[in-house]
Amino acid sequence: MSLVIKNLHANVQGTEILKGINLEIPKGEVHAIMGPNGSGKSTLSKVLCGHPDYEVTEGEAWLDGQNLLDMSIDERSRAGLFLAFQYPMEVPGVSNANFLRAAMQARMPHGEELDAVTFYKTLYAKMDQLGMARKFTSRAVNEGFSGGEKKRNEVLQMLLLDPLYAILDETDSGLDIDALRIVSEGVNSMRSPFRSFLVITHYKRLLDYIRPDVVHVLADGRIVRTGGGELVDELESRGYEFLKETETAEK
Ligand code: ADP
Ligand code: MG
Ligand code: MG
Repeated sequence: MSLVIKNLHANVQGTEILKGINLEIPKGEVHAIMGPNGSGKSTLSKVLCGHPDYEVTEGEAWLDGQNLLDMSIDERSRAGLFLAFQYPMEVPGVSNANFLRAAMQARMPHGEELDAVTFYKTLYAKMDQLGMARKFTSRAVNEGFSGGEKKRNEVLQMLLLDPLYAILDETDSGLDIDALRIVSEGVNSMRSPFRSFLVITHYKRLLDYIRPDVVHVLADGRIVRTGGGELVDELESRGYEFLKETETAEK
């Protein structure tokens, strides 16, 4: 059981952004992707979730043996895939509680109703875990939320939807150090042999809390390095430039 990506190429507005991604995330593992701005990290996460602006031109993606690229956004979600967006969308006029309830209801087995008592009990427990005030249930989804509040709300969605494969796209940006710790604890509380994570980040500090099993470096649409936690320290001390140096030396 795993998420397998083979030679994935994707275009955005006719420009090739992903240039042959190969990646395998076995069930139970936490993988991190680091990489310079514009390298294609968000593009990869959006392609995996089926965002219509991103055109796959070559390659494959398999989720527990199912062909991910053949599935609708909805089917991907029901198969257990979840993406916490780098820039969460605002949904004016829809309360956060109604939005979350609809998302949870959509994941229920056919014909089963998510009753209000169960929903609010679960919602409040997860909000308490994330240190979110109750007023965030009645406010419109992400509308007027600060950067950090939006990120916390993404993690709230993740905790409620209980996905098998969770992708977190720069969920740490905009969080102060206390929120970062709370959010990381939320992620860590979900770690299990049955669940995998792909954590996209610019910064070592998130990976000090969420210790990844494997670290990948994405540069210009390709994975140029894969290693363990030591790769994070190397990037932190030397930046991304050293990858170019070592790449040249290897040629
Ligand atoms: P990262 O997340 O690593 O910072 P992105 O995947 O967001 O990088 O972007 C990779 C490249 O694709 C950038 O050059 C960006 O401008 C371009 N790009 C991404 N999404 C779009 C889009 N919707 N429209 C036009 N260009 C895009
Ligand atoms: Mg970026
Ligand atoms: Mg990005």
